[in-house]
Amino acid sequence: MKITNIDVIVTCPGRNYVAIKIHTDSPGLYGVGDATLNGRELSVAAALRDHMIPLLIGRDPDQVEDIWQMLFRGAYWRGGPVLMTALAAIDMALWDIKGKRAGMPVYSLLGGRTRTGALAYTHAGGQNFTEVEDSVRRAIAKGFKVVRAQVAIPGNVGTYGIGGSSLAGAAQWTNQPAEWGDGGPLPQVEKWEPSAYMRTIPALFDHLRSTIGFDTELFHDVHERLTPIQAARLGRDLEPHRILFLEDPIRPEHKESFRLIRNHTLTPLAMGELFHSRWDCLPLLTEQLIDYIRCDIGHTGGITEAKKIAAIAESFHIQTAWHGPGDIGPATHAANVHLDIALANFGVQEMVFFSDQVHEVFPGAPVFENGMLNVSDAPGLGVDIHEDAAAKYPYQRAYLPTTRRADGSVHDW
Ligand SMILES: [Mg+2]
Repeated sequence: MKITNIDVIVTCPGRNYVAIKIHTDSPGLYGVGDATLNGRELSVAAALRDHMIPLLIGRDPDQVEDIWQMLFRGAYWRGGPVLMTALAAIDMALWDIKGKRAGMPVYSLLGGRTRTGALAYTHAGGQNFTEVEDSVRRAIAKGFKVVRAQVAIPGNVGTYGIGGSSLAGAAQWTNQPAEWGDGGPLPQVEKWEPSAYMRTIPALFDHLRSTIGFDTELFHDVHERLTPIQAARLGRDLEPHRILFLEDPIRPEHKESFRLIRNHTLTPLAMGELFHSRWDCLPLLTEQLIDYIRCDIGHTGGITEAKKIAAIAESFHIQTAWHGPGDIGPATHAANVHLDIALANFGVQEMVFFSDQVHEVFPGAPVFENGMLNVSDAPGLGVDIHEDAAAKYPYQRAYLPTTRRADGSVHDW
């Protein structure tokens, strides 16, 4: 069997997505992959069209591992979010083809079901503690057993994550975006200061535990904004609230700083959505410095790399919590769940509810029921692309927000 051509599809059904479709010389057999990298979508599309796809025409789509190694090492220049997102899309689409040829869902190829579904979490948020409590209660009423909680920080502007579980594809920010010379948007600028944040978050969980109790698993996403000693302090202050984990406490560059955090708190730690390979994860795994590894399969080279990361993590008592936000496409969400229900050391899965437009373009996303996600038993990943629908929603330039301190200096968003 041979790869005959590969389509790159850029579409904006509410927000931008990039997808690929790998065609083969077997009539009607193709694979679907997600190549979405929020804010740098066209860079990935160009990497695929201009550099990677020409290497794949005529190749045997069965050789997933060899193609992965060829694209990762064979170009000499390797890694980073753009290339690893492009590689992930190809990898996912090749697994999709493999499943379709076998007549089996991808989770069967990964060893088969180990559980009835993937325990899922959603996002709760609000302007104040009562709004967050209401948001958590709505999530519980929907069936969620695990909820992430974020609250607006007094004096800050545009606090991360307080929109709660708004539909993926809906407007993410209420402030008017700045405009570039061509009338298109520039990044939203948010203001963030740590001291009010450090006081507010433990008080939020005081409120949530005293009103909602301990039966629902709750946790919080720092979004890489703290210094190591701040993260250690926050972890210690949150210990009485028994959160599931403190997510992404510090910048991704400083793996060694997790030693300091770990030495000072019993609050479980999760990290990884800004990592791009298993080597980024290694010290955190082998030194048992975290409890959940939460790489983005769509930015880390796909299923082939994720199963290796999971296998290393399993050896060190670490569970998976793959990144699952609205700015990656349904094929990556499906890849997440195929891994989740096959892995021995799955922990929890982040999820979003996609809009009707996203479902129209990409039918077959995982289904949420009774607190868990599941995929169908359709061969492959189970996600398709409707190109006619995608063409109705042309690309619109968009950026993630940027963050500055009160003195105007750049901080991590
Ligand atoms: Mg996060």
